[in-house]
Amino acid sequence: MTDDFHSGAIVIGAGLSGLAVAHELRRRNIPVTVLEGQDDVAQPWRSRHPQLRLNIHRHYAALPGREMTRDDGIFVRRDTVVKFLEDYAHDLAAHIQFGMQVRKVEKTPAGWRVFTDNGTWSAAHLIVATGREQFATMPTWPGKERFSGQIVHAAQFGDVKQYDGKRVLVVGAGNSGTDVLNHLSRHAAAKIWVSLRHGPSILPTRIFGFPLHRLAGLFLQFPRWSLDSLFAATQWAAFGNLRRHGMRRHRLGGNTRMVEEGVTFALDDGFVAALKSGRIKVVAETVGFTEKTVQLLDGREIEADVVICATGYRAGLHSLLHKFGVLNPAGYPLNPSGQPEGANPWLWFAGYSIHMKGFFHAAGDCAVRIANAIAESEKRTGTVNNVTYGTPHLAQDMQKVNGATDEDNSIARPNPS
Ligand SMILES: Cc1cc2nc3c(=O)[nH]c(=O)nc-3n(C[C@H](O)[C@H](O)[C@H](O)COP(=O)(O)OP(=O)(O)OC[C@H]3O[C@@H](n4cnc5c(N)ncnc54)[C@H](O)[C@@H]3O)c2cc1C
Repeated sequence: MTDDFHSGAIVIGAGLSGLAVAHELRRRNIPVTVLEGQDDVAQPWRSRHPQLRLNIHRHYAALPGREMTRDDGIFVRRDTVVKFLEDYAHDLAAHIQFGMQVRKVEKTPAGWRVFTDNGTWSAAHLIVATGREQFATMPTWPGKERFSGQIVHAAQFGDVKQYDGKRVLVVGAGNSGTDVLNHLSRHAAAKIWVSLRHGPSILPTRIFGFPLHRLAGLFLQFPRWSLDSLFAATQWAAFGNLRRHGMRRHRLGGNTRMVEEGVTFALDDGFVAALKSGRIKVVAETVGFTEKTVQLLDGREIEADVVICATGYRAGLHSLLHKFGVLNPAGYPLNPSGQPEGANPWLWFAGYSIHMKGFFHAAGDCAVRIANAIAESEKRTGTVNNVTYGTPHLAQDMQKVNGATDEDNSIARPNPS
């Protein structure tokens, strides 16, 4: 295949963001191939702990063309998310190539070329949807290697029962840390500490029994300047003064942190009650380890059996994309959610912005934005003719439109390597 002319799109990553884009491209009869490094969809969800439920309301856990099942109640179980993504991917099966970890990306005169261990692929448009949380971030504390206890990342939390009878220190109480603490608070760990620099912006999962996240659409109607105060007031009304329990406030309000730093709200489901009852104790920032203890900033040392580091994730896009000048200093895309890339037209990012309604909703919005823009550009180049936009993405439509088989249209085509 030459570089003279390419059409269609390659999507890197068959997570919910990549699948939503593929779905919307197919609806517009745009040829698309999704390259997924794993052998199946939903691997990030399968590897998360079995107790996990979505912290967003079921209403916002839909993707374009598919509603979430109501079987689990308001907050959907991890396994249900996996099944949902399997079903969603099933409809796109002809367009997904598994086992295609993308190692390198190149710009060509005609679009983009990507390299996997199993071949190279070219297309006019490239959509990067590899997720914000590809890699767990682990701090490098002095003495960590000689600590005789166990140190794990929150990504490896696993079955909560394994912590029964153990002294557990959780480092960090952001979204993941609070999730871990919620689960620990309902089980039988011998001791639970949480090591904090400052407390999170934390909201109740329900207010008077009503799931707070269902109001996300309403909150978005408020002027942005008012949201920090609104959420601080909600936190206060639900929990009172958490400083009394050692949770110092961050200098930024919760909404500002979400928008500017990508840190989402923590959602309480047992943690705060355990904090107030003294079952969970706040301790100072972790600064190092001895063989037997964890050292804290205030000079105190505590003996823990397990340290769970809820210290965040990173996208890990640098090695693939640093040469295109499309990443900010933190390694996230400058245009994270389907906005056009000025200097790199036809390169798109999906799934890297935080939205109050959650990632599913954001993925849908972003997919529509990207697919509309690509459809426009394909129309201009005359690649996709006579397409009725908004029709279902059936293989037969492709044949009718272009007189070719679905496979033929499933560009990006592999280049002979
Ligand atoms: C513990 C935890 C709980 C969460 N809970 C919620 C929640 O309740 N609600 C919510 O909205 N969000 C939640 N999130 C955020 C969650 O990650 C997103 O909702 C969602 O998984 C993001 O989907 P995505 O498609 O953008 O990325 P991912 O799900 O990470 O999918 C990216 C895909 O790209 C593939 N990939 C990566 N690199 C390459 C490469 N180089 N080549 C080929 N393929 C590649 C990966 O294998 C993966 O399949 C949670 C995150 C964590 C860590």
